[in-house]
Amino acid sequence: MKTALPAPRPPSTLRRNALWSALLLLVVALLAMLVWLAGIYEANQVQIRLERDVAEAVSDIRAAFVRNAQGLQALQYSDPTPNSWAIEAASFLHEHREIVRVEWRDSALRPLSQVDTPFRTPVFDHVGRAELQSEVVLACANARRVSGPAYASSYFVPLSDGLGVEVMELCLPLQKGSKVSGYLIATYALQEVLTGLLARPITRNNEISFTEGDGTRLALFGAGRRGSRVFSAHQLMDLPGTTLVLRMDSWRAAPDLFPNVLTALVTAMSIALVSVVALLGKDMRRRFKAESELADVLAFRKAMEDSLVTGLRARDLQGHTTYVNPAFCQMVGFSADELLGHSAPAPYWPPESGEEYRQYELSRQAGRAPPREGYESIYQRKDGSRFPVLVIEAALINAQGVQTGWMSALLDISEQRRVEELSRAGQERLQATARLATVGEMASLLSHELNQPLAAISGYAAGSLNLLRDGPQGALEFSAELTLAMQRIAEQAERAGKVIKSVHDYVRRRDQVRQAVAPQALLDAILPLVHLQARQLAVRVQTEIEPGVPPVLCDRTMVEQVLLNLARNAMQAMDGPQIKERCLTIRVRALKGSRAGKNWLEFSVADLGQGIAPDVREQLFNPFFTTKAEGMGLGLSLCRTVVEQHGGALEFAANRPQGTVFLFTLPASAVA
Ligand code: ADP
Repeated sequence: MKTALPAPRPPSTLRRNALWSALLLLVVALLAMLVWLAGIYEANQVQIRLERDVAEAVSDIRAAFVRNAQGLQALQYSDPTPNSWAIEAASFLHEHREIVRVEWRDSALRPLSQVDTPFRTPVFDHVGRAELQSEVVLACANARRVSGPAYASSYFVPLSDGLGVEVMELCLPLQKGSKVSGYLIATYALQEVLTGLLARPITRNNEISFTEGDGTRLALFGAGRRGSRVFSAHQLMDLPGTTLVLRMDSWRAAPDLFPNVLTALVTAMSIALVSVVALLGKDMRRRFKAESELADVLAFRKAMEDSLVTGLRARDLQGHTTYVNPAFCQMVGFSADELLGHSAPAPYWPPESGEEYRQYELSRQAGRAPPREGYESIYQRKDGSRFPVLVIEAALINAQGVQTGWMSALLDISEQRRVEELSRAGQERLQATARLATVGEMASLLSHELNQPLAAISGYAAGSLNLLRDGPQGALEFSAELTLAMQRIAEQAERAGKVIKSVHDYVRRRDQVRQAVAPQALLDAILPLVHLQARQLAVRVQTEIEPGVPPVLCDRTMVEQVLLNLARNAMQAMDGPQIKERCLTIRVRALKGSRAGKNWLEFSVADLGQGIAPDVREQLFNPFFTTKAEGMGLGLSLCRTVVEQHGGALEFAANRPQGTVFLFTLPASAVA
């Protein structure tokens, strides 16, 4: 995968339409050709069948002629008289409609006996048999020559009703020894031959006729459907002495559009093919639409990725980078080509952390999921500069629901770090300012407090000087008083020094180290200062430390400041004429049970002041909120910050019988 997915080029509509038209044209041409070929095939089939039928018909007729010749021959077996022969011949004709007359003639062709078919009026009645002898003579001459049945060409015999009949003579020589003793002459009516000798299926479907060489019809059976395409087949029927042409015209193969099943099948398949092509076309259109929609989505996604300021990086399960977005490339200063396909160590890993990062990746590949909220890391730009990043990782799941890698979103948090640093420095400055403000406030108290020891010192010094003015004797005389005065001076100087030192310590101590401190030590550190103010405001200070409480683990200076602030607030709350009982109580006790695996101590600072008004309560911890003319409004917000930094909580409640109690917790040191 590249940073930029190429947008698919929209295919030219003109070209696509031309292709589709060509395909359609080809398909239509192919189908038309198929239908045409199927038609030709069908016609061929019909022709072949017709030719087979006509050949069968010819062989049927030929076989019937042979059988008839044998039947006629049989009439002579019993050596008949002309009369008995006539009876036999009549019964023979009864069974053979196609023969209209049989004659028995002697060797000179003189008639001995003759019988006409009972099925029609005798054929030769109108014209007379004597007129029509030439064909008989020809046939018998042939018969004698071949010593077997012979036929003569057919001829037309007019009838009395104006019509006529086409007949053909058969001459059968009768042998006696080697001599011809006579002839049997049978006259076939060609029309009846077609009617009587052919099988029904053939005659039902076809028009059958005997024709002359030039196509003139001699006899016809069946009537074709006129106006339709007609298939015809000819077959020569060679008979001894003559040749007949049997012609068959079929109307079965009318040129329908679907002449048979094959064509219908081909047509149906063609329709199916066209439908499939149409469906394919529809499908293609849908596909093109989906493709163009996909292209839009891809373009949208690309625009979105390019506009992101968050770096995106995808890696496969082996740790090879498979995708990076422009923001990531910009962040690390490497181009996409330099990053893609890279496995650990990545070029943007600081060399000294490579092993650590690799271990982390290995553990993640082993199935340990990264934290949902992300983790911080340090990356190195191409120019070698380092910057902190926040990496948020999620599993990359493909369409089949299988994890194929990891997708990471990376945020350059150097700016955030800078702001945090600024704010931390600001906070520190604020704390220092607050301390200075407290000190400023105390300066007046200090001057008052220092006045006392200084006045005492100057008093003792003045007294001592007076005693010394009388000379060495006086000094000796009053040596005891002088010593006492000096002691007092030293004491008062020491006290003044202590006062100054406690303020100095408070302002200068900045060490942030957490250490185990006994609660008593914390109170001892602040009490001189508390007493200073307490004396001025006529407040009684009371401390109660539960016996056996463990030391507390804290930043000593800060916690002292919390105590000092709370005590100062408490004393100021009792500064009013209406407050009669002024007592400040600082208590320390151990809390029962443990929380977060630690034991906890509770510090409380209680006063008997006027309490906190409900509207003040809401804003108590807001920085710069104060109700005092000279107040800074920073004390409580600082206190809470400090306590929370130690993992504890600062709360307040109403005190009994009146006033307020501030409570905060701090962790106990494990060391007893
Ligand atoms: P400051 O003392 O400079 O005003 P703080 O943050 O220490 O700032 O206190 C904010 C306000 O909370 C005070 O002005 C005061 O009105 C109120 N307050 C603090 N402690 C007490 C208390 N013990 N009793 C009554 N009001 C208090």
